[in-house]
Amino acid sequence: MCLLALCAAALSPLLSCQHARGGAIGSRKLVILGIDGLDPDLLTKFMAEGKMPNFARLATQGSFRRLTTSIPPQSPVAWSNLITGMNAGGHGIFDFIHRDPKTFQLYFSTSRVEGPKHSFHLGSWVIPLGSGTAEQLRHGKAFWEILDEQSVPNYVYRIPANFPPIAAKGKTLSGMGTPDLRGTYGTFTFYTDDPTAAVGAVEGGEVVQIDVKNNRVATNLIGPDNVFRKNSPPSTEPFTVDVDPLEPVARIGVQDQQFVLKEGEWSGWVSVEFQLMPVFGNLIGNVKGICRFYLKQTHPRFQLYVSPINIDPENPALPISTPSSYSRALAKQIGEFHTQGIAEDTKALTDGVLDDKEYLEQARTVLAEHRRAFDAEFPKFHQGLFFFYFSSLDLNAHMMWRLTDPQSPTYDAELAAQYGTALEGFYEQIDQVLGEVMPKVDDNTTLVVLSDHGFAPYRHSFNLNTWLLNNGYIARKEGASGDASEPFADVDWSRTRAYGLGLNGLYLNVRGREREGIVEPGAQADALLREIRQKLLEVRDPKDGSQVITRIDLASEAYQGPYARTGPDALVGYNRGYRAGWKTILGAFPAEVLEDNTNAWSGDHCIDFTKVPGVLLSNRKIEAQAPALTDIAPTILSEFGIAKTKDMMGQSVFQPR
Ligand SMILES: [Zn+2]
Repeated sequence: MCLLALCAAALSPLLSCQHARGGAIGSRKLVILGIDGLDPDLLTKFMAEGKMPNFARLATQGSFRRLTTSIPPQSPVAWSNLITGMNAGGHGIFDFIHRDPKTFQLYFSTSRVEGPKHSFHLGSWVIPLGSGTAEQLRHGKAFWEILDEQSVPNYVYRIPANFPPIAAKGKTLSGMGTPDLRGTYGTFTFYTDDPTAAVGAVEGGEVVQIDVKNNRVATNLIGPDNVFRKNSPPSTEPFTVDVDPLEPVARIGVQDQQFVLKEGEWSGWVSVEFQLMPVFGNLIGNVKGICRFYLKQTHPRFQLYVSPINIDPENPALPISTPSSYSRALAKQIGEFHTQGIAEDTKALTDGVLDDKEYLEQARTVLAEHRRAFDAEFPKFHQGLFFFYFSSLDLNAHMMWRLTDPQSPTYDAELAAQYGTALEGFYEQIDQVLGEVMPKVDDNTTLVVLSDHGFAPYRHSFNLNTWLLNNGYIARKEGASGDASEPFADVDWSRTRAYGLGLNGLYLNVRGREREGIVEPGAQADALLREIRQKLLEVRDPKDGSQVITRIDLASEAYQGPYARTGPDALVGYNRGYRAGWKTILGAFPAEVLEDNTNAWSGDHCIDFTKVPGVLLSNRKIEAQAPALTDIAPTILSEFGIAKTKDMMGQSVFQPR
């Protein structure tokens, strides 16, 4: 801290400051803990309660600020702001979900995975020519690309919006945005002989009806679509379960592996190879995955959960690390681990396939894996940048908020008594990680702990498309039922002026951009947007008069850069307690404009960005009074004496201003 005083007193330029803090740039070290969703209010509360002593020490001895998040405050957008130093106008990521304005096909915003483009047919087989590809859709240079160019060693663990990982000299592992082996963000399978179970696809998985015959279940694991078969049906691999006729225990056999599970027990990672095409006794096009089994119940009903099949880090079917051998090396050191971008199986909880206890066990396994990786990698760090990402505070705040919030429509006092402190337990674990880092921080090391956004309750849904319909901005075809499965299937585009898509996106139906656009770009579009903005800001919750939407940013004002006009035309900022409804996000029209959110997913941050700032802590004095995510890339570069690029919007948070 004495060095801080030296810098501040001298008001010296950055370079001399660096010298003052000990030696040449080559020996400088920067450690960044990127904690998704770490909320400043919760942090302040837990520090005051003595539950996060290491954070409290860092905040007292160094600095603690709120960090301005992205517009909108969604993780892929926020981390892209951090990675590039630009906002969405520069990196082109506006939401989890984007749309093709010509076809209205929806896609995940950060990457595209495609099968081979050409193929020929042979009987029922389809022979692909060339291999499939995975493409990253984020634009702009990542801070570690610039560090690579300047030969600053760096390590980047699971930063979101980096799948497939861009070419890098250092070790990187992809995180949020990495699909499971089926190409989805995570599809579990639930096997049951309950005749009343709703069989088929549910939101985050698939329910499969099985028979227990002579105490045996013979069924299939469901793998990636088999592009070698006509119409690409999903590939399958058989497995068996022998259920003990009396005891709550079963033996599972998958390929050449056998293991026994008791009721309520999870397996470790199980490898499975999907054989896509047999040729002359050899297998080509086969892919490997890993999954975990959870024996939920044996009697009277059989219930078995199988996790989404993750890309196997030892034999990755798609690129997930740099160098490509790194995921294998890490698995060799710490054991197999989740590679799927969002590893916590939140959908299994919302679908009722796992209960709170079971979900929390799974979520704790994810954090345990991250901590094993941290414990393996941090001791190897001696130079340059070490960036490490933790997902737990975000996903578990999404799921567990309702048990800390008596105003939540899904608050349950009994569950709250059991699991109401679960979220706090994850915060305490992150504090323990910080406790491991702090003793290793020397005078040459800058330590930064930050989050991409904070958190808010999500009690009520606002169905933007229903509101637009009721207010005459959307017209539907005659006789539309409202329950179409395709996004916007019933919309009469020739009479529609605006639509909502994604968690915060409001789009106009612009002539020349949308397939059947009718709004003239320019003055007409501007006037329409301002009219809708005015009306949306006036919406009140009839229950208590609360303002539902507190802020709407126009893309023309919020974004700079080459992609500024390729996303939504305006970003809807909800008040705390509100969020876009589950169905409106995907272009559907629930009957009511406002509804209670009865989903277990009960905390959120995809709202007015001023209401969910992230955090920024450092062992050094943060000079910026209102630092923003876009300041982080320039901060990282300046720590190593590298000038920021001309596209970067911010400046080092340590720079006196
Ligand atoms: Zn989140």
